[in-house]
Order: sequence, then structure tokens, then C-alpha cells
Amino acid sequence: MAIIQCPHCEKDIELEAGSSGLFDCPYCEEQFSWGNTPHSSTTRWFDLWLGFLIPSSTIFPGIPILLFIFEPQGLEVLIYLIVGIISNILTTLVLGLIGLRMQRYQLALGALFSPIASALTFYLYAETI
Ligand SMILES: [Zn+2]
Repeated sequence: MAIIQCPHCEKDIELEAGSSGLFDCPYCEEQFSWGNTPHSSTTRWFDLWLGFLIPSSTIFPGIPILLFIFEPQGLEVLIYLIVGIISNILTTLVLGLIGLRMQRYQLALGALFSPIASALTFYLYAETI
């Protein structure tokens, strides 16, 4: 048994040890969540986009901004592209690890999509040249 406090009326409630989910307080009948409750769908979508957009931003608008600021010539452009791709992969790995650690798998999943989308973008871009 574990004794916790109701977040609404602050009375002590007995829960089975290790239990999690939504509970009704026997005193004030308010609902509260306890333990490793699954994240809401809003959080999941937010994580998915966050995981996708952060690494992607190193490619777009990251690379165009770098090119605009430093105006590299010829082969130098390639260096900026490589820097963008490497930071994309690194942020993907970092976000993936954070997502797995915090059990926010959508964060990791979103991060995984980013290099795939970037690779596709590069592929499509290369096709047009
Ligand atoms: Zn209560």
C-alpha cells in the first residue's frame, strides 16, 4: 500500500503500491492521476512535432540562413551543407535519447522522421538540378 495526498482536498488516500492511472478521491470525489500515466494526445502531437522540427531547423531554415549570412562561394557551400546535415543527425540522436529516457517516445519518433525528410528533400532538390 502507498499513501498519497489528494491534490484537491489534501486528504490521505491509500493506493496499491505501484498502481498508476486515473483515480477518484473517496473524500471529495474529484479525479486525479497518479503514477506513470500516459501523456495526453496533445502532448504526444506536440512531442512528435517538436522532435521533428528541432533537427529539421538545422537544415531548413538553418542552411539558407547560414548561406545568406556568410555568402560562401563554390565548394564552401558544400561545407555548410555538411555542417547542417551533421547538426541534423546530432540533434536527432540527442532528442531520440531524451525521448527514450523520459519515455516520451513520440519525441524520439519525430526526431527519427527528420533526417528521413531531410534526405528526401535533398534527393528531390538534387533531381531538379
Ligand atoms: Zn480529494
